[in-house]
Amino acid sequence: MAGEPQPDCVFCKIVAGEIPATVVRKTERTLAFRDIAPKAPVHVLVIPHVHYANAAELAAAEPGIAAELLAEAGAVAKDEGLRDYRLIFNTGAGAGQTVFHAHVHVLGGTSMTERMV
Ligand code: C5P
Repeated sequence: MAGEPQPDCVFCKIVAGEIPATVVRKTERTLAFRDIAPKAPVHVLVIPHVHYANAAELAAAEPGIAAELLAEAGAVAKDEGLRDYRLIFNTGAGAGQTVFHAHVHVLGGTSMTERMV
């Protein structure tokens, strides 16, 4: 069912504490952790605890959580001392999405004028 944890989802397992992650921020509804394969000096993922396949599906079903995801992305950037940064929502395998649990990439700490993820 939409929003319910999925047994084969790596990000649901991170939310449940079953897979380790380097967590940098946590709220009742979101989690932010460092990407295990960073594409920039700062590369943090912000995810909702609830499972939706992508950010658009999250926003359609749970707009309040989607707004919190964006606010937390901004808070991560501030915590990391980033003035300029990039937010990326890969949506669909053809766009490079590999984990089908909504997430936003926060990338920064270097020149962000080229495509990175
Ligand atoms: O947008 P996309 O689905 O490609 O991003 C998924 C991201 O999740 C990748 O950048 C990957 O490195 C990251 N990841 C992670 N920890 C895991 C599995 C994937 O940080 N255990």
